[in-house]
Amino acid sequence: MKKRVYIKTFGCQMNENDTEKIYILLSDEYEATSNPEEADLILINTCSVREKPQHKVYSEAGRYKPLKKKNPDLIIGITGCVAQQEGENIIKKLPYVDIVLGTQGFYFIKEALETFKKTKKPVVFTELKPDFKPPLILKDDKNSVFTDRKVTAFVTIMQGCDNFCSYCIVPYVRGKEISRPPEDILKEVEALVKMGVREVTLLGQNVNSYGLKEKGYPDFAELLEMVSQIEGLWRIRFTTSHPKDLSEKLIKVMAENPKVCKHIHLPLQAGSNKILKKMNRKYTKEDYLEKIRKLRTAIPEIGITTDIIVGFPGETEEDFKETVEMLEKVRYQEIFSFKYSDRPFTLAQKLNNKIPEEVKERRLKIIHETQAKITKEIYESYVGKEVEVLVEDYSAKNKEKLMGRTTTNIIVNFNTPRLDLKGALVKVLITEAGKHSLKGEYLKTLKI
Ligand code: SF4
Repeated sequence: MKKRVYIKTFGCQMNENDTEKIYILLSDEYEATSNPEEADLILINTCSVREKPQHKVYSEAGRYKPLKKKNPDLIIGITGCVAQQEGENIIKKLPYVDIVLGTQGFYFIKEALETFKKTKKPVVFTELKPDFKPPLILKDDKNSVFTDRKVTAFVTIMQGCDNFCSYCIVPYVRGKEISRPPEDILKEVEALVKMGVREVTLLGQNVNSYGLKEKGYPDFAELLEMVSQIEGLWRIRFTTSHPKDLSEKLIKVMAENPKVCKHIHLPLQAGSNKILKKMNRKYTKEDYLEKIRKLRTAIPEIGITTDIIVGFPGETEEDFKETVEMLEKVRYQEIFSFKYSDRPFTLAQKLNNKIPEEVKERRLKIIHETQAKITKEIYESYVGKEVEVLVEDYSAKNKEKLMGRTTTNIIVNFNTPRLDLKGALVKVLITEAGKHSLKGEYLKTLKI
């Protein structure tokens, strides 16, 4: 009988994707459980991008400590960005933790478990090699821990980042930017399509610089074309795009290749050139607006989303006003907005003129209110339109309805006489706009 592994995942899509890889790596010996009480191995896959992550990880790990009393063979491990950042410190602070594996180290989970079982001593692996080649890990019927077939999947195409935005911890915890070989990416997507996946999201900290450091690799626009050749794959998304590296070639592929979804997440972060410079973003707001103009000229229907940080050190009321003005100019479909907070290792944490918490709060509220109005107007403009939706599942709140996404990445919940359409591409008439999704009526099936 197989042992059981429970993995708690924090953070971004890349972490979710790493968790899936860990499940696959362990699948010979372990099966997944959603109940930590019955697990033989508990892993916490951590994120250090957002505020107070160590705190969160330590309190999460503390919840599992008593389980060791019940099951002395239980192994507890920490993986991901906080493991990378804290290394041995985790063992010092939490002596009941057995394994600490960083952002490259998790690939060696089986070896780490072997070593731990032999030595009964904590295993810490947090080396970051600039020439590290992530192994190819393919999902198939035997190793998939999920009985539920997914319609969409993430595929990490690169690791790490060379950009060193002054507020960001990623280059320190995920290492130098490494692009995966295109043949590995194609094999991974093909394997997913065989398992019924219809849409992949290609992941990287900055997908726009994919392949540029490697001799003989395609660039990102070429990679999209290559992936789109895979039969049975209907849609391709990608995230995240650094505005400075968004090329005209990529815009052309997005406009002309029918499999590439008409959505882009293009993090602005701030609207003031002074703050953008302090953030080391390497573009001005004018450069950014020019890219938006090119995107909208080539793809008028494109959905654009972004990230905003308020209260970066030294941000004046005038600087902040420029961010609000950018929201109004660009008219994003949705935004993800955050209050600035110091992250270890970063240059920004050493800057003076930190913004008081209450000012950050107030600015964030203004950002939310401004954006809510714009999102509402954009969503309302869909009412009465017919859109193509890739059906992902039942609607979260009502199992009598289905849910999917438009090519522009808006969630649509819709009434349908047929509930067996998971994985189909359907036409839906939009009848109502909600705050974060659209509602509609099924019209017809386009592809199944
Ligand atoms: S591009 Fe900037 S914000 Fe994005 S991961 Fe790299 S350093 Fe962080």
